[in-house]
Amino acid sequence: MLINRDFIFPVYIYENVLEVVKDICNKSNFELFGYLVGNVSEWNGKKYVIITDQLYNENAVDSQQYFTSQINGTAGNFNTVLKGIREIRGDDDLCILGWWHSHPDFGCFLSTTDVHTQRFFFPESYQVALIVDPIRKEYSFFTLDDSSKEGYKEISHAIISPKID
Ligand SMILES: [Zn+2]
Repeated sequence: MLINRDFIFPVYIYENVLEVVKDICNKSNFELFGYLVGNVSEWNGKKYVIITDQLYNENAVDSQQYFTSQINGTAGNFNTVLKGIREIRGDDDLCILGWWHSHPDFGCFLSTTDVHTQRFFFPESYQVALIVDPIRKEYSFFTLDDSSKEGYKEISHAIISPKID
Protein backbone atom coordinates (compact mmCIF):
# COMPACT_ATOMS: atom_id res chain seq x y z
CA MET A 1 0.00 0.00 0.00
CA LEU A 2 1.23 3.43 -0.86
CA ILE A 3 0.93 5.82 2.03
CA ASN A 4 0.39 9.45 1.21
CA ARG A 5 2.63 11.29 3.66
CA ASP A 6 0.84 14.49 2.88
CA PHE A 7 -2.39 13.23 4.32
CA ILE A 8 -3.92 14.57 7.52
CA PHE A 9 -7.44 14.34 8.83
CA PRO A 10 -9.25 17.64 9.39
CA VAL A 11 -10.43 16.38 12.80
CA TYR A 12 -8.75 14.31 15.50
CA ILE A 13 -10.79 13.45 18.57
CA TYR A 14 -9.82 11.57 21.72
CA GLU A 15 -11.79 8.36 22.11
CA ASN A 16 -12.98 9.17 25.63
CA VAL A 17 -14.33 12.57 24.55
CA LEU A 18 -16.34 10.94 21.77
CA GLU A 19 -17.61 8.29 24.22
CA VAL A 20 -18.72 10.92 26.74
CA VAL A 21 -20.65 12.79 24.06
CA LYS A 22 -22.29 9.57 22.85
CA ASP A 23 -23.18 8.56 26.43
CA ILE A 24 -24.82 11.92 27.12
CA CYS A 25 -26.81 11.68 23.86
CA ASN A 26 -27.85 8.09 24.67
CA LYS A 27 -29.56 9.17 27.87
CA SER A 28 -32.09 11.52 26.33
CA ASN A 29 -34.67 11.68 23.58
CA PHE A 30 -34.27 15.45 23.50
CA GLU A 31 -31.82 17.25 21.27
CA LEU A 32 -28.83 18.01 23.47
CA PHE A 33 -25.82 20.13 22.70
CA GLY A 34 -22.39 21.07 23.94
CA TYR A 35 -19.14 22.61 22.82
CA LEU A 36 -16.01 20.92 21.47
CA VAL A 37 -12.73 22.11 22.97
CA GLY A 38 -9.13 21.57 21.95
CA ASN A 39 -6.30 22.86 19.80
CA VAL A 40 -5.90 24.10 16.26
CA SER A 41 -2.74 22.94 14.51
CA GLU A 42 -1.27 23.33 11.08
CA TRP A 43 0.75 20.94 8.97
CA ASN A 44 2.00 21.66 5.46
CA GLY A 45 -0.31 24.66 5.30
CA LYS A 46 -3.40 22.65 6.25
CA LYS A 47 -5.27 23.41 9.43
CA TYR A 48 -6.62 20.59 11.57
CA VAL A 49 -8.13 20.33 15.03
CA ILE A 50 -7.48 18.05 17.98
CA ILE A 51 -10.53 17.73 20.22
CA THR A 52 -9.47 17.08 23.81
CA ASP A 53 -12.57 18.06 25.79
CA GLN A 54 -16.25 18.78 25.52
CA LEU A 55 -18.54 21.10 27.44
CA TYR A 56 -22.07 19.84 27.86
CA ASN A 57 -24.74 22.52 28.08
CA GLU A 58 -27.35 21.01 30.36
CA ASN A 59 -29.86 23.76 29.80
CA ALA A 60 -30.37 23.24 26.09
CA VAL A 61 -33.09 20.85 25.07
CA ASP A 62 -34.42 22.27 21.84
CA SER A 63 -32.59 23.29 18.69
CA GLN A 64 -34.94 26.20 17.99
CA GLN A 65 -34.16 27.59 21.43
CA TYR A 66 -30.45 27.04 21.54
CA PHE A 67 -30.05 28.60 18.14
CA THR A 68 -30.73 32.05 19.52
CA SER A 69 -31.04 32.23 23.26
CA GLN A 70 -29.14 29.33 24.74
CA ILE A 71 -25.77 29.86 23.14
CA ASN A 72 -25.93 33.60 23.77
CA GLY A 73 -27.20 33.09 27.30
CA THR A 74 -24.43 30.73 28.28
CA ALA A 75 -21.56 32.47 26.51
CA GLY A 76 -20.14 33.93 29.71
CA ASN A 77 -20.70 30.65 31.46
CA PHE A 78 -18.78 28.51 29.00
CA ASN A 79 -15.89 30.98 29.01
CA THR A 80 -15.53 30.35 32.74
CA VAL A 81 -15.55 26.59 32.20
CA LEU A 82 -13.10 26.92 29.29
CA LYS A 83 -10.78 28.89 31.59
CA GLY A 84 -11.01 26.03 34.10
CA ILE A 85 -10.10 23.43 31.46
CA ARG A 86 -7.15 25.59 30.35
CA GLU A 87 -5.88 25.64 33.92
CA ILE A 88 -6.33 21.89 34.45
CA ARG A 89 -4.54 21.09 31.18
CA GLY A 90 -1.99 23.87 31.62
CA ASP A 91 -2.73 24.95 28.05
CA ASP A 92 -3.77 28.54 27.39
CA ASP A 93 -4.25 27.79 23.68
CA LEU A 94 -7.29 25.57 24.18
CA CYS A 95 -10.23 27.03 22.33
CA ILE A 96 -13.77 26.32 21.17
CA LEU A 97 -13.46 24.14 18.07
CA GLY A 98 -17.18 23.87 17.45
CA TRP A 99 -20.17 22.14 18.90
CA TRP A 100 -21.89 18.79 19.14
CA HIS A 101 -25.60 18.06 19.25
CA SER A 102 -27.91 15.10 18.97
CA HIS A 103 -30.45 14.21 16.29
CA PRO A 104 -32.46 11.44 17.96
CA ASP A 105 -33.60 9.18 15.13
CA PHE A 106 -33.42 11.73 12.33
CA GLY A 107 -29.92 11.03 11.10
CA CYS A 108 -26.68 12.93 10.65
CA PHE A 109 -26.82 16.13 8.60
CA LEU A 110 -26.99 19.87 9.27
CA SER A 111 -30.46 21.40 9.20
CA THR A 112 -30.94 24.90 7.85
CA THR A 113 -31.00 26.09 11.46
CA ASP A 114 -27.79 24.20 12.17
CA VAL A 115 -26.05 25.85 9.20
CA HIS A 116 -27.16 29.27 10.49
CA THR A 117 -25.86 28.38 13.94
CA GLN A 118 -22.56 27.25 12.46
CA ARG A 119 -22.22 30.45 10.42
CA PHE A 120 -23.08 32.69 13.35
CA PHE A 121 -21.21 31.04 16.22
CA PHE A 122 -18.56 28.81 14.60
CA PRO A 123 -17.59 30.53 11.33
CA GLU A 124 -13.87 29.65 11.26
CA SER A 125 -12.85 27.19 8.55
CA TYR A 126 -11.50 24.78 11.17
CA GLN A 127 -14.63 24.89 13.38
CA VAL A 128 -16.77 21.76 13.22
CA ALA A 129 -20.22 20.42 14.04
CA LEU A 130 -20.47 16.91 15.45
CA ILE A 131 -23.91 15.33 15.03
CA VAL A 132 -24.82 12.22 17.01
CA ASP A 133 -27.88 10.10 16.36
CA PRO A 134 -28.12 7.92 19.48
CA ILE A 135 -31.03 5.86 18.12
CA ARG A 136 -29.44 4.99 14.76
CA LYS A 137 -25.99 4.76 16.38
CA GLU A 138 -24.46 7.16 13.88
CA TYR A 139 -22.29 10.24 14.14
CA SER A 140 -20.57 12.59 11.67
CA PHE A 141 -18.45 15.72 11.57
CA PHE A 142 -19.30 18.69 9.35
CA THR A 143 -17.87 22.09 8.42
CA LEU A 144 -19.17 25.02 6.44
CA ASP A 145 -18.66 24.79 2.70
CA ASP A 146 -19.78 27.74 0.61
CA SER A 147 -19.18 25.83 -2.62
CA SER A 148 -21.87 23.28 -1.84
CA LYS A 149 -25.59 23.81 -2.32
CA GLU A 150 -26.38 23.03 1.32
CA GLY A 151 -23.60 25.30 2.61
CA TYR A 152 -21.82 22.54 4.48
CA LYS A 153 -19.97 19.28 3.93
CA GLU A 154 -19.18 16.13 5.85
CA ILE A 155 -15.54 15.72 6.82
CA SER A 156 -13.43 12.77 7.88
CA HIS A 157 -11.91 12.30 11.30
CA ALA A 158 -9.51 10.10 13.22
CA ILE A 159 -10.00 8.79 16.75
CA ILE A 160 -7.04 9.06 19.10
CA SER A 161 -6.47 6.18 21.51
CA PRO A 162 -5.50 5.50 24.21
CA LYS A 163 -7.69 7.80 26.19
CA ILE A 164 -6.47 10.81 28.06
CA ASP A 165 -7.67 11.58 31.59
ZN1 LIG B 1 -29.34 19.70 14.25
